[in-house]
Amino acid sequence: MSEKHSFQAEIQQLLNIVIHSLYTDKEIFIRELVSNASDAIEKLRFLQASGTTVADPDTALKIGIETDDKAHRVIITDTGIGMTREELIENLGTIAHSGSKAFIQRLAQEKKPDVSLIGQFGVGFYSAFMAASKVTVESRSYHPDATGWKWTSDGSGGYEIEPAEGVVRGTRITLELKEDAKDFASEWRIEEVLKKYSTFVAFPVELNAKQINTKQAIWTRSKSDIKDEEYDEFYSYIAHDSDKPLFRLHFSADAPLSIHALLYVPKRNPEILGMARAESEVNLYCRKILIQAKAKDLFPEWLRFLRGAVDSEDLPLNISRESMQDSALLSKLNKVLTSRFIKFLDDQAEKHPDAFEAFYAEYQRYLKEGAAMDFTHRESLSKLLRFESSALEKGKTTTLVDYIMRMPSEQKDIYYLLAPSRESAQSSPYYEVFASRKYEVLFLSDPIDEFVMDNMREFDGKKLVSGEKADLKVENPASTEGALSTDDTSSLATWLKETLGTRVEDVRSSERLVDSPAVIVDKDKHLSASMRRMMKAMRPPGTPEPDQKMDLEFNPRHPVMIRLQQTRSTNASLAAEVAEQLLDNARVAAGVMDDPRQMIGRLNSLLAQVLNKN
Ligand code: ADP
Ligand code: MG
Repeated sequence: MSEKHSFQAEIQQLLNIVIHSLYTDKEIFIRELVSNASDAIEKLRFLQASGTTVADPDTALKIGIETDDKAHRVIITDTGIGMTREELIENLGTIAHSGSKAFIQRLAQEKKPDVSLIGQFGVGFYSAFMAASKVTVESRSYHPDATGWKWTSDGSGGYEIEPAEGVVRGTRITLELKEDAKDFASEWRIEEVLKKYSTFVAFPVELNAKQINTKQAIWTRSKSDIKDEEYDEFYSYIAHDSDKPLFRLHFSADAPLSIHALLYVPKRNPEILGMARAESEVNLYCRKILIQAKAKDLFPEWLRFLRGAVDSEDLPLNISRESMQDSALLSKLNKVLTSRFIKFLDDQAEKHPDAFEAFYAEYQRYLKEGAAMDFTHRESLSKLLRFESSALEKGKTTTLVDYIMRMPSEQKDIYYLLAPSRESAQSSPYYEVFASRKYEVLFLSDPIDEFVMDNMREFDGKKLVSGEKADLKVENPASTEGALSTDDTSSLATWLKETLGTRVEDVRSSERLVDSPAVIVDKDKHLSASMRRMMKAMRPPGTPEPDQKMDLEFNPRHPVMIRLQQTRSTNASLAAEVAEQLLDNARVAAGVMDDPRQMIGRLNSLLAQVLNKN
């Protein structure tokens, strides 16, 4: 005897939307039903594991899908916990989850309801009615004395329930496909959908008796059970990469979120290989069911080189792309994962410096991008950065932490110089004051370093200051014998300004120089040498150099300046040529000499005069 039941009002409302929706992505019903099957088996496995007696205890845990393209039918079977009569009524006719009602209300108000959200709100089962005109659920609960029941509905009005003979433990769902969903009765179509969403379901998924999911969800397994080869195999499967990964991080956490994550760093930086901007290829799962492939907001941008899987039981199934974006849960997940990965890198740097170095060589740009842009993780990221330093031999690098440990107590800031090479930094006039004071200077040669330093601004409460802009004086300048007097210094400054005209903004004496006669300093204290070089590189050929507000600072203790002050009165034209040449030399040292050919003529004339003297 079958009994008729009505759906709860909200369910009927939902079904009306589902049945009449023009939503085209009907295939998600497969994902929802497979996900329910997997849940049911998961629950059974838990019961068995915790010692509960279940019916048919030796039945293999698996999900079966049969297609019948003649009858336009697809059948999904699982050997999970099944449902009693009461459970069928409770689970497939009323709303179990809070929030579902609100979801249905919202859907009802929308012009184009997004039915794909259905699984997120605990009503995924009803997606079956997108594809089926009639759904039959035959189920037998795991209780040893439970009997079989059959639930049928066409989605309109209600459902019928009757006892059923010959039902084994678990659930069997038969879908009579609608005209416009007949393609789901063909094996290849189902296979396509399964490959897309259910590859890593933890239990065998068999399509017409052939197992589809050969890859197990290794990220949820215990680390000690997994062989390196398995890890590598999974990596090559998900990353389409035949190389072994550079790093692998497999971890689980319970708080603040339940997370299983298996992350890989490819051996090669994918952006170097492909030129194009890499995209994160970490899949997001909830209990081994794919929620989103290549999940967009799971990691910050700078971690886009990661590959792997993240599984969180706290995520609602079928969370959609749109709701992903404003999901507080997702940003929490993002934060936890990112912090954990940074900690992993930190550990590597400490315990396996060689491996970290290899990683750093390949991926430093990403870390720097993060240090510059990702405020949340800036501090921990900046600890991972490495720089060459005046305190270390060539080729060795330091962290900012170690730099600070070496700082003399009176030094306030962290200094760096940007130069194409260590040698050119060391021979730069800007380095002199640091050498004289024995202050450590970081040598930065990556063009993006300056951008990074500008954005980081400080580290551990210490300002990051470009050596070109440092406000420092040489300590106890060596010999002041013959040095220009204050009067001579200021009259030389006035004369230099007159002589150099618009080529300089201002001329003054400097206390930062030891071996160089003069240096140029950016008036705006804004553009450093490397930035100027970059701007120069970006200027279209032929465009004149823009007005650069450069100040010339000179060293009143330097023999050239001392002699220049004397020569002004004895040989005005030679003095003028020397002044021009001093400025050009300073410009070369600063890396802003556009076309050195124009100064060759003057240099030759100066050489001739030197030789004539002898
Ligand atoms: P959700 O899976 O989010 O709970 P669904 O609408 O997909 O929402 O399913 C509703 C409920 O129906 C499930 O919570 C479960 O109790 C029950 N159910 C659905 N499919 C099965 C199945 N194959 N085996 C056992 N129970 C099931
Ligand atoms: Mg479900």
